[in-house]
This record gives sequence, C-alpha cells and structure tokens, in this order.
Amino acid sequence: MRLQNKVAIITGGGRGIGEVTAKTFAKEGAKIVVADLNEADIEKTVSEMKETGADVIGAVVNVTDRKQVDDLIKQTVDAFGRVDIVVNNAGITMDAQLLKMSEDQWDKVIDVNLKGVFNVGQAAAHVMKEQQGGVILNASSVVGVYGNFGQTNYAATKWGVNGMTKTWSKELGRFGIRVNSIAPGFILTPMTEKMPEKVLDYMKEKSSLKLLGTPEDIANGYLFLASDEARFITGEILSIDGGVVL
Ligand code: NAP
Repeated sequence: MRLQNKVAIITGGGRGIGEVTAKTFAKEGAKIVVADLNEADIEKTVSEMKETGADVIGAVVNVTDRKQVDDLIKQTVDAFGRVDIVVNNAGITMDAQLLKMSEDQWDKVIDVNLKGVFNVGQAAAHVMKEQQGGVILNASSVVGVYGNFGQTNYAATKWGVNGMTKTWSKELGRFGIRVNSIAPGFILTPMTEKMPEKVLDYMKEKSSLKLLGTPEDIANGYLFLASDEARFITGEILSIDGGVVL
C-alpha cells in the first residue's frame, strides 16, 4: 500500500479526475475526504467507495469561500486527526475568445481556479507546518504551459497555479511539505464532454500518442507524487498529455 493511513482531501472529488483520484488513493490505503460543491456527486462517490471498504467522508464545500475551506480542514482533522495530502483539483472553464470574454467569465474562473487553490493550499499548509510534513498537489493544464484559443481566463489561472506551486515549494520545503502540479492534456471527463467532437479529434491528432487521456492516467500521476516514492520531488509541473505539441 503506497498511501497507508495517509489522510487526503480531494477537492472536486465528486466526479471526473477528482473522483478517480479519490478512489485510487483509497485503494492504496489512504483515508479520504471527498470535497465538492455538488452534494449528489459526493454522495454517489462516497457510497461507491464505502462499498469497497474505503475509509471516506464527504464534505460539501465551495473552495472560493474561505470560511467553508477552514471548516473543511477542521472537519478533516476532527475525523482523521491530520491532513497529509491535498489535491487541489476543483476547477472550471467558461470559454470565450478575448474579444468576447465577459467580466463575469473572467471573474468566475479566476475565483475557483486561482483563489480556490490559494484558499485550500494556505489552510492546509498551516496544519502541515504543525505536522512538519505534507503534500500539496495542484491541478494545472497543458493550457497553463502552451495557452489555448478561447481560454484567456483558464490559461491565466493554470499559469498562476504553476507559479503558486513553485513559490510554495520554495516557502514550505523547510517544513517537509512538497508541492507539485500536474498539467493534464485532454482527458475524457464531464468537463471535456461538452467540447465539440471535432475539437477532441483535433487534440487527439495533436498528441504524439494519438490518444486522449483517461482520469486514471492523471490519478496515477497524483498517486506517484503523493507517495514517498516522490520524496525528493517538489516544485515540478508534471505534464501527462500523451506528448501534446500545440
Ligand atoms: P469536472 O469533471 O468538471 O469536475 C470538477 C469538479 O470540481 C466538479 O465536481 C465540480 O462540481 C467541482 N467544482 C467546481 N467548482 C467548485 C468549487 N467552487 N468548489 C468545489 N468544487 C468545485 O473536471 P475534470 O475534467 O475532472 O477536471 C479536474 C481538474 O483538472 C480541473 O482543475 C481542470 O481544470 C483540470 N484539467 C482537466 C483537464 C481535462 O481534460 N478534463 C485537462 C487539464 C486540466 P460541480 O459539478 O458542482 O461543478
């Protein structure tokens, strides 16, 4: 077991990459908090995990709300005694070309993808500092490395996530806290299902492996970075994208 008795919070853990990451971590012995906006998704994921014997609780939380995030950390410590791993996975898209992007589209994506990561990362880091150890993993994207047509807001946030990852790794390393990001390519989840078929075909064609990714491809990356196998890795942006060249 690669995460035996570790306590992990997965934001956006109710569905998509977060759901599969929660299930993957639980199979490796971690105690899990599935934190998400959507109560129905949480209930479904938590009950499926309980059926397999996982030690798991759900928490309804909006990562943009600092009070709710502080409650999430408290609830985790009350239930499991500590916080070893945080996967800052919750994220949204609201796409439009620069010339058509509304202030609302900009603000909402910044709020969830940047402020949400800041809120959860900072709140968890306080506990991890007390423990003198922990792992923070942030969801970036290939779009945070190469940019993408129609995603000014999303690209800015994922670039920002990479900046926070590198900054936090410098600040928190002395407390035994490692911080890394994963930059997924195009992964088949509810987020990408809403994209036109021709865009997905184009992305597949653009990858060296001529494949779209699965949530398991990303969850396996998080598992490695969360485990002690990655004890000497911090401040990295790990691309898991089938060799995308944009
Ligand atoms: P997804 O299927 O849309 O799942 C995201 C989850 O986050 C949903 O359950 C969503 O809840 C939740 N969420 C949204 N806003 C939240 C908030 N304010 N507070 C708490 N939870 C919130 O997304 P995904 O495809 O699995 O992506 C997961 C992460 O990977 C994201 O950060 C995304 O940017 C990144 N990523 C994905 C891809 C891809 O191709 N799929 C590629 C690169 C990076 P609701 O259902 O209520 O909205």
